[in-house]
Amino acid sequence: MPTKNNKQDWNWQNSYLQLPDKLYSKQAPAPVPEPSLLYWNEALAEQLGLAFLTGNEERLAEFFSGNTVPPGAEPLAQAYAGHQFGGFNILGDGRAILLGEQINPEGKRFDIQLKGSGQTPYSRRGDGRATLSSMLREYLISEAMYHLGIPTTRSLAVVGTGQTVYRQKVNQGAVLTRIASSHIRVGTFEYVRQYGTIEEIEAFVQYVIKRHYPELESADNKALALLEAVMDKQIELVVEWMRVGFIHGVMNTDNVSIAGETIDYGPCAFMNAYDPRTVFSSIDRHGRYAFGNQPNITHWNMAVFAGTLLPLIAEQEEVATEQARAVLDDFPRRFAQKWYQMMFRKLGIVKPERTDAALVDELLELMERHQADYTNVFAGLRNGQLQEEALNASFEFQDWHARWKKRFEVMPTEANTLMVQSNPVIIARNHLVEEVLQAAEASNYQPLNDFLKQLSKPYASGDDAPELQLVPSDFDSQYQTFCGT
Ligand code: AMP
Ligand code: MG
Repeated sequence: MPTKNNKQDWNWQNSYLQLPDKLYSKQAPAPVPEPSLLYWNEALAEQLGLAFLTGNEERLAEFFSGNTVPPGAEPLAQAYAGHQFGGFNILGDGRAILLGEQINPEGKRFDIQLKGSGQTPYSRRGDGRATLSSMLREYLISEAMYHLGIPTTRSLAVVGTGQTVYRQKVNQGAVLTRIASSHIRVGTFEYVRQYGTIEEIEAFVQYVIKRHYPELESADNKALALLEAVMDKQIELVVEWMRVGFIHGVMNTDNVSIAGETIDYGPCAFMNAYDPRTVFSSIDRHGRYAFGNQPNITHWNMAVFAGTLLPLIAEQEEVATEQARAVLDDFPRRFAQKWYQMMFRKLGIVKPERTDAALVDELLELMERHQADYTNVFAGLRNGQLQEEALNASFEFQDWHARWKKRFEVMPTEANTLMVQSNPVIIARNHLVEEVLQAAEASNYQPLNDFLKQLSKPYASGDDAPELQLVPSDFDSQYQTFCGT
């Protein structure tokens, strides 16, 4: 058990180093020429027990650029594999360094990782670096997700490097500090399965259970119990994404956290007009990671995860496969159940009845047909001011609305509370994200700071900033997002 910590100091406990050394490479971050602190997340620093660092910008820039390794940190790059768009690859931290695990004042363990901190043995042909704009984008969207109440990795700092990074154009470089309850992925299990002995796989599963699912320590079949627990965590997470219209964009198994946090903010985006086929990622040509395909792909990813656990589930392969399949086959039922519960809350339905599922399905069908804005429809239902013209004008919607009103009026106060908690008014809309990032690239950080502040209260009424609810009609059709920038 980690001990309590009220120290004015780092409190490292680097347990990952006790795992077989094929799982990582010791590696220091590569220095940068001109580190300058751009963002320091004071509230998060406080939660981590790192408030003592606040204020000394020069020192922060040194630590969080990678130029100075903090005392007690034992930097390493993690090895992992993954299925990228369905194909298996050996990967690993190609541009990230885990400084170590910080134990916070409550005894909770957090990975502190630098992203964009130079090459590692896993960089392949990459430069190990990251652009300022994409690191600020991660900072912005991960903080927005946190304030929406969705499990996520977080961003502690962004430090400019004074280096240029070449992608489609010449960019400024930056290092982001990412905080996660761990960086263990489905892809880490794939790596262990590929290269580990049975004892090593077992030790790794034991490590993960101790770190993330201690309640499973006493399970009869730990591997099977872990499959089920991770699957349920993923279902909860993706249901939460669906609640707010979040499209992850690159749900490769190396981007699926075992702890169930949203990780990898590369090509993600929020959906405006409701359409389950919505895709923004430039490389997702077949819509594998489209908004409405996120449940299916999660099921697929869990099947890959199950495959890595088979030798521990049962000695005989057929028995193991059958037991894993029984868990996986229950995915659609479990997902649908959680998803409908979430949608009922969005509609303020306190005590669901059998016919309510049809109410949800019909609304989504009408929203799709009339290209209604996902966020604004629910926000509009929430405050009784639905301003989606095409939807409002439809006779079928008026009929739907009358039926919904009857359901809503059963317990109006409770219903309203549910709707306020479930339906954000302010989300990180694509055109606004791009606008504030462009300003930041030109050294004007005011719009980004203002937007961060607004996104920290996503469930507020929105009355003070109605412009955040406007959606330009021609933006999304040509909007593209990118990986590895
Ligand atoms: P991602 O698309 O962010 O999930 O990254 C997939 C893999 O590519 C991971 O192993 C990354 O570490 C690696 N990678 C992405 N960008 C770079 C880069 N600029 N240099 C080295 N490796 C990279
Ligand atoms: Mg990744």
